[in-house]
Amino acid sequence: MSQKNKDVEDGVIRRYFSLISSALGFSFVLICVVNPSEGFAQDLSAAKFPTPYEGGDGWDTATYKEGMKYYAELAAASQQLTIHTMGKTDSGYPLSVILITDPNHVALEEVSKDTRTVLLINNAIHPGESDGVDASMAFARDLVFKEEAYGEWLQDVIVAIIPFYNIGGALNRNSGTRANQNGPREYGFRGNGRNYDLNRDFLKCDTRNAKSFAEIFQLLDPDFFIDTHVSNGADYQHVMTTAQSQKDKLGLSLGQYMHTQFEPMLFKAMETAGYPTIPYVNSGGNPPENGYDQFLETPRYSTGYAGLFQTMGYMTETHMLKPYPQRVAATRAFFDASLKLLAQEGKSIQSLRQKDRDTYRRQQSAPIAWEVDRNHPARLEFHGYEASQVPSTVTGGTRLFYDRDKPFVRNIPYFNQYKVSQSVTLPAGYLIPREWHTVIDLMEKNSIVMRVVNNPVTIPAETYRIDRVQSKTPPYE
Ligand SMILES: [Zn+2]
Repeated sequence: MSQKNKDVEDGVIRRYFSLISSALGFSFVLICVVNPSEGFAQDLSAAKFPTPYEGGDGWDTATYKEGMKYYAELAAASQQLTIHTMGKTDSGYPLSVILITDPNHVALEEVSKDTRTVLLINNAIHPGESDGVDASMAFARDLVFKEEAYGEWLQDVIVAIIPFYNIGGALNRNSGTRANQNGPREYGFRGNGRNYDLNRDFLKCDTRNAKSFAEIFQLLDPDFFIDTHVSNGADYQHVMTTAQSQKDKLGLSLGQYMHTQFEPMLFKAMETAGYPTIPYVNSGGNPPENGYDQFLETPRYSTGYAGLFQTMGYMTETHMLKPYPQRVAATRAFFDASLKLLAQEGKSIQSLRQKDRDTYRRQQSAPIAWEVDRNHPARLEFHGYEASQVPSTVTGGTRLFYDRDKPFVRNIPYFNQYKVSQSVTLPAGYLIPREWHTVIDLMEKNSIVMRVVNNPVTIPAETYRIDRVQSKTPPYE
C-alpha cells in the first residue's frame, strides 16, 4: 500500500472516529451536564442535528426534501442561519440559498456591501455527484454550533450555500445513471427537469435555474466560489482534484495572485488534511502521466461565469471510484480549508478584485478566446496507477486498464499556460433594439449597466450581422 493510500484511509478513519466521538460525546454530556463546557456544547449540537448522511451508514445522500427540512431545522435553532428563496427553477420549486454568518447577521440584499469576505458554495448542479450536498449540511451545522472551531473564521467570512441547484434532477432519483461511481446508493440525475445540463447553461440561460442563479450571484457578488462535482475518467490515487479558474483567462492581478499565492496555500492545506489535491485530470481517455492540459472553464460553466465577475472559482471534482465517505470527507476538507484561507486572505482578495475591475473599465480591448500554449508546461506531482492495454472480455478488443497494485508518484507535465487567440475592440457601448428583450433581460439579471435612448440620435456606429449559424453535427449528451 502506498503512502497516499494510507493517507486516504487515515482520512476515512479520522472521519469515522469523529462520528463515533460525536455519539460518545452526547452520552458524556448527559453525565457531565452540571458542568458543561463549550466543547460539550459542540458535541450536543452534532448529536442533535445529524445529517441524513451521518445518520445512516455513510452510503446515503439526502434527498431534496430531507435536505431542505434539515436546513429549516437549523434555521429554527439559530438566527445565524437563514433560508432565502429566489426565482423559480424549471422544476417549479424555487432556488434556495442558505446564508450563514456569525451573530452579526446581515440581510441577503446587504451581503455585497458587507466588508466581510463572501464564500458561495453551489451543490447538486449534477445531482448524481452529491458529495457537496452532504458535506454542506454538516458544514452549515458546524459553522453555527461549533463556535470554538469556526467562530474565529466566521468573523471575517459570510458563507452562502445553494443546497440543491438542479432540483428537478435531484428529484429524479435512481441507482443506475452513475453505475461506475462508488456510492451513494441512490442519487439524482444529471439533467434538470427539462434535461438541460445546467453546467453548460450559465451564459445562455435557457433554464430558469440559470436565471435564478444569476440573481443570487449578482446579489452576493461572492469573492470566492465553489461548485461541487465528482469526476469521471482515468483512475489514480487522488481523492480530490479541482477545475479552477484558468489563471490567464481570469487574468490581471487576481489571476496571478490565485496562481502564485492562493492556490499553493489552498493545496498545502488540503495535503495537510490528508487529501493531496491536483488540478482536474483532463487527459481525455489517455493515461495522465503523459501530462495533460488545464481545463479551460469558459463562461458556460459555473466557474467560468464566476470569472467574468472577478470571482475565483473552483469546481471540486472528487474521484468517482473512491468510496462515498472518503469523497464527502474530502469535499468537506476543501470547504474548511477555503474558509480558513478566506478569513486570512479576504481583504487582499477584495482589493485585487476592485483593482482588476478598475483596470478592465479602462481597457480598449477584451480577449474572448484562448488556446493552450504547450511550450511552457508546469510540473505537478501525480499519484497514479500504472496503465496498460488489456483484452476486453466485452468487446474482444483491448481496453485501458489501471493496475491499483502498481501505484506510483511521478512528476508530470501540466500545460496550464493559455494565450489569447481572439480579442475584440471595446466600443463605447452597444445599442440593443428594444425588441431584443431576451438579451436585455439577461443583461439586467447580470447587473450590466444600461440606459434607455428615448429620443432619436445620430451617432457613428458599426453593426454586427449573423449571416450563418452552424450547429455541431453529433448530438450533445
Ligand atoms: Zn459534474
